[in-house]
Amino acid sequence: MITMPAPIAGKTCPLSELADVAVAAVQQGVAPQVVFDLDDTLFLVRPRKRAIFRELAETYGREHDLHEALHTLAAGPIPYDVVEALGTVGITHDAHVAELKKGFFDRFFDGSYTAHDAVNEGAVAYVNHLADQGVKVVYLTGRPEEMQPQTLETLAAGGFPVDERTRLILKETANAKMLDADFKGLKAAEIAAVGPVLATFDNEPANLNAMKAAMADARFFLLDTDHSPNPPTLEMDVYVMDTFEVERRNLATALANSPDFNSGSKWTINVAAV
Ligand SMILES: [Mg+2]
Repeated sequence: MITMPAPIAGKTCPLSELADVAVAAVQQGVAPQVVFDLDDTLFLVRPRKRAIFRELAETYGREHDLHEALHTLAAGPIPYDVVEALGTVGITHDAHVAELKKGFFDRFFDGSYTAHDAVNEGAVAYVNHLADQGVKVVYLTGRPEEMQPQTLETLAAGGFPVDERTRLILKETANAKMLDADFKGLKAAEIAAVGPVLATFDNEPANLNAMKAAMADARFFLLDTDHSPNPPTLEMDVYVMDTFEVERRNLATALANSPDFNSGSKWTINVAAV
């Protein structure tokens, strides 16, 4: 896990600041872009993993040891790495691990399972706000291009903008073997060639590092949701957040920590939508 920073004080609200900068850029005639990763950034994918492990459990009989172990795994925190995850419930036999790993990834990259993904809190309002202000929203994902139809469906079903204000980039079949970080570095250069990039959001430190060269002036937001094992050291300052509600939550925390909070007078916190 990545250590969360202390609550933001005063005016240091990077999400609001980005939105303000974007509005100013549009007013100056610039067409700014903001890049969002999907898995574990705009969407949380643990529910997809839970559904898959539950389904895999049911491929074994009720009496089979793997049945209960996989249900236990599905109900827990589920480490990012599948082999590590299986190990947490005692599944270490090579043949079982190989079989379950294949079963897991066959489903994980089958677009129909994205219906289980949960929208990250606050993400829909924030992305729509940027799009409404004239920002080009770029969805950049390492999902294979075969998942495009379901990805568009789940974006729209979740309430994200999917129209001429947005662009969806998935990993082409020709690049299927490319590491996600290399793929994102390549696409970052293509995106930056289109116009200025104000910010990029991703849950993988390696992806942010890979995009830096193409968008050195961008703001970098790291989603502390889940990430691959052994992440590299970040090569830039990042703002760490777990949801898009972080500013409102931090404001509420700061107010709650105030000794005068709610003493005497009756007033309530009312923070406008970002
Ligand atoms: Mg991701």
